[in-house]
Amino acid sequence: MTAKKYIELEQTYGAHNYHPLPVVISKAKGVWVWDVDGKKYMDMLSSYSAINQGHLHPRIVKAAKEQMERVSLTSRAFSNDRMGPFLKKLCEISGMEMALPMNTGAEAVETAIKLARRWGHQNKGIPENEGEIVVCENNFHGRTTTIISFSSDQDSKKGFGPFTPGFITIPYNNVAAFEKAITPNTIGILVEPIQGEAGINVPSPGYLKELRRICTEKGVLLILDEIQTGFARTGKMFAFEHEGIKPDVLCVGKALGGGLYPVSAALSSREHFSVFTPGSHGSTFGGNPLACAIADAALDVLIDENIAERSATMGAYFVKKLRAMNCSEIKEIRFKGLLIGVEFKLGPGETVRPICQKLMESGVLAKDTHEKTIRFAPPLTITEEEADWALERIRKVFEGLGKRIPSPPAAAQCTCPCQAMR
Ligand SMILES: *Cc1c(COP(=O)(O)O)cnc(C)c1O
Repeated sequence: MTAKKYIELEQTYGAHNYHPLPVVISKAKGVWVWDVDGKKYMDMLSSYSAINQGHLHPRIVKAAKEQMERVSLTSRAFSNDRMGPFLKKLCEISGMEMALPMNTGAEAVETAIKLARRWGHQNKGIPENEGEIVVCENNFHGRTTTIISFSSDQDSKKGFGPFTPGFITIPYNNVAAFEKAITPNTIGILVEPIQGEAGINVPSPGYLKELRRICTEKGVLLILDEIQTGFARTGKMFAFEHEGIKPDVLCVGKALGGGLYPVSAALSSREHFSVFTPGSHGSTFGGNPLACAIADAALDVLIDENIAERSATMGAYFVKKLRAMNCSEIKEIRFKGLLIGVEFKLGPGETVRPICQKLMESGVLAKDTHEKTIRFAPPLTITEEEADWALERIRKVFEGLGKRIPSPPAAAQCTCPCQAMR
């Protein structure tokens, strides 16, 4: 079947809730993917940082295969021999005391919200239904009805109401706004250490430290969503390590599954987790032995291959080379480790999609995050040689931009019949 046919099938039978670049991937290894015609590309998105260990890391694949021959699913009605050892490892790596395993990132965030709310009610004496969780403008925490309730992105919420109350929005990277937002009913703040989906928004140094100080002073929870920033993406195992702090509640997902399987968790202290009693929360697939075996191996790879260090070194290398290109169309480069955002000078209504399209044609798969920023977030296993391969192609595309390439109207960019959606 041709690429065109696969895309047609996807668009005929699949809901148009995404607007993919027109590449049909059928094979992957490490930082590389191949399309149905055998053309090779470098994956510079890593499935939004779910593939930090590289595609199909042999050690993670081996763990998965072995576990599939033993037992895959037990449900939490019974214990299994993979969950305990895995959770111990996850807690030791993150410096947290306990974990509650789920599947997707959104479920980890939901778990954190439930934990926080019940803790606020039971331990802080906040009247039931009156607790407030502070969140930041331009956040991205997932797609459930509750989570989109506190999104500031109209595309992801319009028409999906009524929304869950109990969330107070403040500007990101604004410590004073947080202090001002705290009331006797405040449970805590839910925040991303770097806003990935908002365009790789890196806050000022000391931001998390200040949030930590205020949370401790006021007795409210610091809830960090490290679903995208966690597991070495930013050059440390967790982004909070850059500021030498610890959150009260931590949400992880994405790379925890090593790119093979959805695995997520909410982590916190033993004391906070005491609000969960049997029957109060759960998931059929959460903590299943296959997920735990895969995640256990995914963590081993991160540690044994010094992936955090590599992420820091390669991130600095990549950005140095990007900056040396002196591309006049670039407005700003923001990064930490291998989470890199390149913002372009574009006019109103223009997006970086045509640049992503050109990059794709040259063999580099990257996607916009927000209209004006391209995210470069390759697997953290990337070598200097592989980075150079991509940088050479990126340079040619950037040079070719010369004068501004105007984006065609949004509908015309779309190769699929989903114009109505845009
Ligand atoms: C991807 C992401 C989520 C949601 O994870 P899913 O697995 O897609 O539900 C939540 N928070 C952040 C910061 C993310 O990047």
